[in-house]
Amino acid sequence: MPQLCVGGRWVGPANGRTREIRCPADGSHVVTVDEAGRPETEAAIAAARRAFDEGPWPHTPASERGALLYRLADLLVEHKPEIARAESLDTGKRLVESGYDVDDVVAVFRHYAGLAGHDAGRVVDTGRADVVSRVVHEPVGVCGLITPWNYPLLQTSWKVAPALAAGNTFVLKPSELTPSTAVVLMRLLVEAGLPAGVGNLVLGAGPEAGAPLSEHPDVDLVSFTGGLETGKRVMASAAATVKKVALELGGKNPNIVFADADRETALDMALTAVFLHSGQVCSAGARLVVEESIHDEFVDELCRRAGRIRLGGPFDDRAQAGPLISAAHRDKVEAYVAVGLAEGATLRCGGARPDDPQLAQGFYYLPTILDSCEPSMTVVRDESFGPVLTVETFRTEDEAVAIANDSQFGLAGAVWTRDGGKAERVTARLRMGTVWINDFHPYVAQAEWGGYKQSGVGRELGLAGLDEYRETKHVWHNIDPTPQRWFGDA
Ligand code: NAD
Repeated sequence: MPQLCVGGRWVGPANGRTREIRCPADGSHVVTVDEAGRPETEAAIAAARRAFDEGPWPHTPASERGALLYRLADLLVEHKPEIARAESLDTGKRLVESGYDVDDVVAVFRHYAGLAGHDAGRVVDTGRADVVSRVVHEPVGVCGLITPWNYPLLQTSWKVAPALAAGNTFVLKPSELTPSTAVVLMRLLVEAGLPAGVGNLVLGAGPEAGAPLSEHPDVDLVSFTGGLETGKRVMASAAATVKKVALELGGKNPNIVFADADRETALDMALTAVFLHSGQVCSAGARLVVEESIHDEFVDELCRRAGRIRLGGPFDDRAQAGPLISAAHRDKVEAYVAVGLAEGATLRCGGARPDDPQLAQGFYYLPTILDSCEPSMTVVRDESFGPVLTVETFRTEDEAVAIANDSQFGLAGAVWTRDGGKAERVTARLRMGTVWINDFHPYVAQAEWGGYKQSGVGRELGLAGLDEYRETKHVWHNIDPTPQRWFGDA
């Protein structure tokens, strides 16, 4: 069955191009999918444009849009095992983690289902009897939604759910590396009753299938999650037609540990912060910023625990972390470690591929810790997006804040201390979209997610997530029009 969804029809590409998806854990064949190019994406944009301009979706009562999203959430629950399996095969991530991701996706759709009818607008008191003035929210139009491979369905839900809740139509382009769950999502949207053309799906490479979404004049908004350099390209090309732009980009997130932190929890969570999903998490705590007085003991113990992390494929119950997404990505991570060592970092553990022959067909890399790092080093500044922790030390609260903020990114960070006042002082000075105190990673659909600095533009989730997908209009209705006579009598 063809896998591109254009105007309510499942179609293949005109030139018959396909792409083989292989599991990063062992290189086994997962699925062969259709590969869209520019013509297919342009057809999808045209379908989304028609569905927006001719309706009825943008004018469908908000309660009905919400009801559809609730139905979709129920279908996702029903199909959870199949979806989790597909996500694990594409990404190589542990099945249990894919299951958590599906739970999160369901929560996101339910959150936006509830928000669909939220805040229809307000009446403005002009102080005049001859005018009715109101502020209303309306959908933006056609949304181009471009997503990455690390949390394929979850990142997609963060865009599709608010776009639909607000009454938009969309063209979705998931990462070419992980297309499977986007196809399932489209099938379930159709089953839930989404009208033809409201949701369109193109699979394929960024420059061919994705680029038209930021270039085409018929797209009103482009929402992109991915790497910094791609994000800059998307923003630059969207500028030509002044699209609304939302960008969720990379991070290089500091995990600040003070000497008075709860040692055991801080140690345990420092490992989770950086090695969850083998570091392929935008909010990964890849920079340990630790107080000098506990540095030696803390880092020794971290290295001991990192060395015991079991690597393995998605269906290996004993595995604690999986492979990297591709050979090219592992090459990139290895190159960052090499540059870090050349710039003066000390290798404390990892720094190599595992020698277990059972893992030889996958793109595995050992959990790696680089000590004696400085904020100026490339391996500290850039996002390696792999299982690589850099360690920097500080002596004072001011120094901890200065080191943590010394970054082009501002996505997330954490502060570990038992001193509540210190935690709040440091948090207030961190230039990041999310700060965890004595925790790492949790997020909820009800709270805004987005980056400061070069980590992004705009917000996903929370109430603002819906606002990104709405235009706001002030309607001034003069209910007693009479001549003003600015220039005297006619
Ligand atoms: P990427 O930038 O390589 O690709 C992201 C998407 O953009 C893919 O679908 C890709 O095909 C597409 N693309 C590539 N070139 C394009 C172009 N010229 N025009 C339009 N689309 C194009 O990113 P990735 O490697 O898939 O994902 C990893 C990155 O995503 C990391 O930097 C990570 O930090 C970031 N990320 C951020 C968040 C967040 O919430 N801030 C969440 C998840 C991932």
